[in-house]
This record gives sequence, C-alpha cells and structure tokens, in this order.
Amino acid sequence: MEMKEIKYEVLPHGSLVREVTIKNIRPCIATEGKVRVLMQLDAPLEKILPSLSTKYPPGKVNFVERKNILTISIYNRLITLYPSGKVTMNKTLDKEDAVEVITQIMETINQLHDDMDEMDTKETPDISRIGPMDIYNCLPQSNCQECGETTCMAFAFKLLSGDQKLENCLPLQEPWHQDQVTCLEKLLGVPMMNTLGWNGY
Ligand code: SF4
Repeated sequence: MEMKEIKYEVLPHGSLVREVTIKNIRPCIATEGKVRVLMQLDAPLEKILPSLSTKYPPGKVNFVERKNILTISIYNRLITLYPSGKVTMNKTLDKEDAVEVITQIMETINQLHDDMDEMDTKETPDISRIGPMDIYNCLPQSNCQECGETTCMAFAFKLLSGDQKLENCLPLQEPWHQDQVTCLEKLLGVPMMNTLGWNGY
C-alpha cells in the first residue's frame, strides 16, 4: 500500500528551501531495523549543490559533477541530494529522525543561498579530487605532533575524514608558515578551509 505523503514546513522563513515532503519510507537494505526515506524539498538545488559540497569535509562527500548529485555521509547514514530537490536518506530511525537531519542540511542550503551573490563559484576547487597527499604537501611536514597525531600524514587523513581541524595544526598559525596556508587556500578554497576548522589567523 502506498503511504500518504507528509509535508513539513520546517523553515518558514528560509530563503530557498522551507518545506520537506516525505514521499516514501522503505526498510533499509544496508541496516536491519532502519529505514530508507525518500523526500522532496520545495525548491530545485542545481545551483547550490556544488557549493554545498564545500560545507562538509571532503572525506564525507561524494559530488558527481557530471550529474550534479551530492552524497553526504554524516550521522552514520548516506544522504543523497539531487538537482530536482529530491533527497534519499538511508540508515534512518524513522520519519522524525529524517526530518531532523534534513532540516540541518536545509539550514546550510539557505545560508549558502543567502551568500550566493558574494561567492564566485567558478573559483571553488573540485574537492572530490583532493587526497591526503595533496593536503600533506601543504602541511609543515615536521611531524611535531602538536596536533595530537603522530605524523603530518595521519593529520591529513583525519582532516579529510572530518576527524581533525586545521586549527589544531598550531605551526600553521606561525607567520613563517604563510606559504603553507597559501598552498591550502589554493588547494581547498577559503569556504572549505573554514569548513575544516580554519579561522584565518
Ligand atoms: S601539528 Fe601540523 S606540523 Fe605538527 S604533526 Fe600535526 S600536522 Fe604536522
């Protein structure tokens, strides 16, 4: 039996997305006892998705540029956003859980939409192609362990997976490491630098 669609107006003052409609709930194939939820937002996301990918650590996103489809791995689940505003979410407890998580993403979408005029999306690097070695090449490479990791390479891996923050590499804050900061800015772009915990010293 087809379930009745349920509409939630979660962000009545949002600049782009305000409502989410739950269209379907099915058992999750990946995890027993959880569900897979199909949702629809009330606005297309085609212009937002490339920028939205910079709001999460590179290791937690997969952006398929050719199709403009973004998958985010957060809260132990995969959330896929399509240009039409369609969203799928697996490993979810129930519809309330799905609405809570998608509302957080919708808040980020609206913030991005508000900032859109100021952003030059052409200058946003393709972060899906950035690997740990790219990050490592921009780090001080002293293995000083001030960040709590045993090596700069370990730090690079954890940074990409969202388990470390750039601000924890204290040597980067020293003026003589400005070249490394510039290297990271070129590699990641300032929005992604901020997402990864850089506050601009
Ligand atoms: S604090 Fe920075 S330089 Fe030191 S080990 Fe960590 S990443 Fe490398």
